[in-house]
Amino acid sequence: MKANKKIVLIMALMLIVITFIIMAIVAINFRDYAYQSAEEKSKIIAEIVRDGLTAHMMNNIMDKRSFFLQNISNSKDVDSLWIVRSENVINQFGEGFGSEKPRDELDMAVLKTGESMKTIEETSNKVLLRISIPYTASSYGSPNCLDCHNAKEGDVLGAISMEFDISAIRILGGITILKILGTSIIFLFFAILITNYLIKPYLSILEHLRVVIEKAYRGDFSHRVKISGDNEAGEVAKWFNTLIEKFQDTLGAIEQNISLFIPHNTVSNKDPLVQSKEVIEELADIYRFKKTIELDKDKMDIYERLFFVMKNKFKIDNFAFYEVDLVKGTRKLIHITEGKSCCEGIADEDVSECRAQRTNAEVSSEEFNTLCPSFKCEKVNYFCIPFKINAEVGIVISITTKNCEQLQEIKKSKQLLDSYLEAVKPVLESKILMEILKESSLRDGLTGLYNRRFLEEFIDKATSQALRSNITYGVLMLDIDFFKMVNDTYGHDVGDIVIRGLANTIKTCVRQSDLAIRFGGEEFVILLHNTSEEGTMLVADKIRTQFAGQKFIASGKTLQKTLSVGVSMFPENADSLWKCIKFADVALYKAKEDGRNRVIKFDLELSPEMKDY
Ligand code: GH3
Ligand code: MG
Ligand code: MG
Repeated sequence: MKANKKIVLIMALMLIVITFIIMAIVAINFRDYAYQSAEEKSKIIAEIVRDGLTAHMMNNIMDKRSFFLQNISNSKDVDSLWIVRSENVINQFGEGFGSEKPRDELDMAVLKTGESMKTIEETSNKVLLRISIPYTASSYGSPNCLDCHNAKEGDVLGAISMEFDISAIRILGGITILKILGTSIIFLFFAILITNYLIKPYLSILEHLRVVIEKAYRGDFSHRVKISGDNEAGEVAKWFNTLIEKFQDTLGAIEQNISLFIPHNTVSNKDPLVQSKEVIEELADIYRFKKTIELDKDKMDIYERLFFVMKNKFKIDNFAFYEVDLVKGTRKLIHITEGKSCCEGIADEDVSECRAQRTNAEVSSEEFNTLCPSFKCEKVNYFCIPFKINAEVGIVISITTKNCEQLQEIKKSKQLLDSYLEAVKPVLESKILMEILKESSLRDGLTGLYNRRFLEEFIDKATSQALRSNITYGVLMLDIDFFKMVNDTYGHDVGDIVIRGLANTIKTCVRQSDLAIRFGGEEFVILLHNTSEEGTMLVADKIRTQFAGQKFIASGKTLQKTLSVGVSMFPENADSLWKCIKFADVALYKAKEDGRNRVIKFDLELSPEMKDY
């Protein structure tokens, strides 16, 4: 039931109850009033009758009393009136008229007790009040009862009984009640009308508010409360509408701005308030993620963190992560969740075989299972995402699922994943740049080999790691023989060509795990990883002979140079790589001394001065 109907109903009920209470009070009061006035009247009549009878008695006209009594009983409202004699009076004066005997038990009871008594007889059309009042003997006044009656003070001499018709008062009461009822009904009608008129705008605004708030709760802020009238209700509606409008505008602006950072469909709820909350949470996550990776050591740490997010936030169970060298057009597998890459070896050497990388667009097996010919796994769905970090580096994420539904679920969160990749991009870019810078600061510009600074950074760590892991190094120290002469004869440019030539020779003679360092002008240190003395001597000699065989053209002439090599073994000769380099230098000195173009192995017996080094 609507509130206004409820209020009207409650009011009506209250008024009806009040009306009935008033009617009951009026009815009771009327009745009491009727009784009281009849009683008063009966007392007066009783006194008049007593005095009248006394007068009759004194004037000796008691036989005329019927006329007197008839006249009194004819008075208004007295239905009937009679007197009764007590035994005492009968004994003294006889029975009197026949009608003066007790007519009923009430008469006898009054004579007996000397107490006034009354009864009410109520029928549908008449209300009869019977009152009987005793006359008792009294010696008061002159003449008094005892003057004529043989009686004692207080003896009951007789009684007078009267019947009053009080129906008229009942009718009057009824009419009064009807008037009250009529007035109440009219009042009720107007009260309802006025109440309804006054509270209707408030109730109607409440109803509108309910609807609009309910819609706003569900995220629809487009509804407004109808403004009705210039009263307080209209005022409330106006303010409420302003508030909702402010909400709508603010949320709209937040939504619009937030969608710049996070795609709209990544949030699940359509309620802009909840949407904003979800988007802000996502933004906070991305911000935290970005702040974390900014403090990461290198790009591999960042990759690791991205894998973690993919697994734990995006719930991607199977994926392979490739780093693409955009300059060389190659790629390498950085991480795979399990098993082998589905395009392993196919696109690694020529990344244009990877459709996602070549087209720079997502590739999904949903449309054609064979969309990417390089993808060789069967009964697997794939979704490959290319992402360019800078002009040199890109990444390709190849996601695989066992069924289409899983793939679709993952595709839904693709835009959020993009946001993470976008967050990764600048950090990764700067880390790559830093790595390039660091790498270049550790490389020698002329030869491309590591420089002495690299050796200084590397050597202590390498020594302790080698001692821990029982790694051995063959240490070579190389120096070109009579190099000054090249500079002096052909100039520095030719000298540089010779130095580069030696660097190339070294590169072809050592393995990937070995380290070649340009130690000084035309001096090189080579650390041969896990190589025996024999192997070390072989590599040293290979470099020496290859270099000696190299021909350089200078000023139209052919130039050939030789070099000398000093060799030491780690940890055989010393427990520090620095010491080994020094010992190799000592051996090199020996090689120079012995006539150059040779390889000399360090021997402590030949250099006892180095014992305490
Ligand atoms: P030795 O056989 O005793 O080694 O005689 P050497 O003439 O080679 O003597 P040394 O090794 O001391 O000569 C080093 C020379 O290398 C001195 C310097 O002029 C030259 N040099 C050092 N760095 C460079 C460089 O970057 N380019 C050129 N062209 N020459 C350099
Ligand atoms: Mg030198
Ligand atoms: Mg030299």
